[in-house]
Amino acid sequence: MFMNIFEDTLKRIENLGKIGDFNKKQLQIFSKPKREHYSELVIGDMKFPAFRIQYNDARGPTKGGIRYHPDVSLDEVRALALWMSLKCAVVDIPYGGAKGGVKVNPKQLSQEELEEISRQYVRAFHEEMGPEKDIPAPDVYTTPQIMAWMLDEFEKIKGGHYPGFITGKPLELGGSKGRDKATAMGAYYVLREYVKSNKIDSRIMKIVIQGFGNAGMHISKILFDEGYKIIAISDSKGGVYDKKGLNIPKLIEYKKKKRKVSGFTKDIKNNDLLELECDVLVPAALENQITKENAGSIKAKIILEVANGPITSDADEILEIGDKIVLPDVLVNAGGVTTSYFEWVQNNTGYYWEEEEVLDKLDKKMTKSFYEIDKKVKEKDISYRDAAYIIAIERILKSEKLRGNA
Ligand code: GLU
Repeated sequence: MFMNIFEDTLKRIENLGKIGDFNKKQLQIFSKPKREHYSELVIGDMKFPAFRIQYNDARGPTKGGIRYHPDVSLDEVRALALWMSLKCAVVDIPYGGAKGGVKVNPKQLSQEELEEISRQYVRAFHEEMGPEKDIPAPDVYTTPQIMAWMLDEFEKIKGGHYPGFITGKPLELGGSKGRDKATAMGAYYVLREYVKSNKIDSRIMKIVIQGFGNAGMHISKILFDEGYKIIAISDSKGGVYDKKGLNIPKLIEYKKKKRKVSGFTKDIKNNDLLELECDVLVPAALENQITKENAGSIKAKIILEVANGPITSDADEILEIGDKIVLPDVLVNAGGVTTSYFEWVQNNTGYYWEEEEVLDKLDKKMTKSFYEIDKKVKEKDISYRDAAYIIAIERILKSEKLRGNA
């Protein structure tokens, strides 16, 4: 099913005009990106469209990852860049939002080819990026090694050291301790606070996780260690299910060996996994997973959006009618960019923190942001997503106003 997620996000923002204190002219600021850059990366006779989109920079340099995926499109990158602008404002870090993407299947490239397109990406966009302008990071299928190649290419072009150019780097090149598990830790802190404030007993909660990449794998491990029961997990090749609870450390070992989760125990199809009877469903893969077609069949009470944009706006309405609680992506997965911000701060000061300090700062940011949103939810009787969007838009508009733009 085709769903233009950019148009869908604009529709969500337009609808906020009815519940937020904004007028049409103010919301107009969010209707298109400030700058869009395109290029084409070439390896032999293969050509890969590449994008860097800087959506809003009123609050600071733009920030956001680079995605390598065969389904990358201009509108997808636009939506992701808009979500980054909102996300950075939700957790109140001094950034605007951007996103990059290359339409490529990295699994079909050799290491040399992967390095080559990563360096070409920087050669194509280096004039538009930099530690005080626009700071990239990893996203779907991009890794610390790719960040290292990109940093190296940028420094070769500029002729100096600029560790604050890119985040999510390996520790040896100025990465931050804790960055690898930061997205998952942030999501965990949000769930922990929701569970605590609603006096739910986490030990009896059943969890289903869609996606076993960086975020999905780390969140499964964190929740397992905290005593939650994870009954199903999937990756892009299939899923596994055990109603007694999966042994996550063993599943991680299995995945590392076999490069898939299926076969570990009883297999389950992706669609059936989403509709399983459980307390928390964690979409941690891609966009558009819960749509108006399957929203009515979701049985989870809480949806923890670790992926960006897994639920469409019409699915949101169906889930709301069914009294489902959606903890939204712009808050839940903001631990990644928040720790990227900590990495950039460490790079710019040249002083590096221990993991405990990083995670402690992350916990404080996520917990504070959760309660700011929770307060708005209760005050206005609205969804967590609407509350998070309103807070973000208010913050961005304040900066726009101070600059004389709103
Ligand atoms: N790609 C991640 C996200 O969607 C992280 C971005 C960053 O660290 O700048 O939030």
